[in-house]
Amino acid sequence: MALDTAWAIDWVRRSAATIDNHRAELVTLDREIGDGDHGENLDRGFRAVVEAVDAGSFDTPGAVFKTVATKLISTVGGAAGPLFGTAYLKAAQAAGEAEALDADALVAVLTAARDGIVSRGKAEVGDKTMVDAWTPAVDAAAAAAGEGASPEQVLAAAADAAATGAESTDALVARKGRASYLGERAVGHRDPGAQSSVYLLRAAVDAA
Ligand code: ADP
Ligand code: MG
Ligand code: MG
Repeated sequence: MALDTAWAIDWVRRSAATIDNHRAELVTLDREIGDGDHGENLDRGFRAVVEAVDAGSFDTPGAVFKTVATKLISTVGGAAGPLFGTAYLKAAQAAGEAEALDADALVAVLTAARDGIVSRGKAEVGDKTMVDAWTPAVDAAAAAAGEGASPEQVLAAAADAAATGAESTDALVARKGRASYLGERAVGHRDPGAQSSVYLLRAAVDAA
């Protein structure tokens, strides 16, 4: 399938479904090294996103991403709301008026999303945050596109690299977010925002 408006809408629905399915797991991860609300926060946010998408009409993937951004920012709260909200807002700007994303446009969208997260949260790779999923995802996407991969293959490369990146957070001490208060006690636990980022990127693959 082309990465067009229908894909973007399906991505939204699949995102809401996967976050709902993994809500308890994300709550548990966040209870271990945070305040235990990450699954609830995102579930509430994506329910609101689906309502808005059901109620609206959209001509471009960028318009869909803009609605995701607005709803996440207004409903999620905490650290993840502004971070994911900024990611989707920057993704919307990068997608522009395009009716479908080719491989290079997809890389630009993913890069803009990651850059938005970094500019908002100031985390680097290794700080045990969602950036540890997003930066490898962007790097893998760019490498795949450079080798002539299809948009679907670029997405899959991004999601696979995000999963490896999220796994890498298990061994880390956190330097940003609530988990940073725990010092060494955060070691052995996965960062919840990195894990939820994997679910969102996998949903994009499944929609494609
Ligand atoms: P809160 O910590 O406010 O309760 P959430 O539980 O919804 O918010 O989200 C926590 C996640 O947010 C963390 O697992 C981490 O991935 C991400 N996060 C926190 N601070 C930052 C930051 N400065 N930069 C990037 N990601 C961050
Ligand atoms: Mg939390
Ligand atoms: Mg919280």
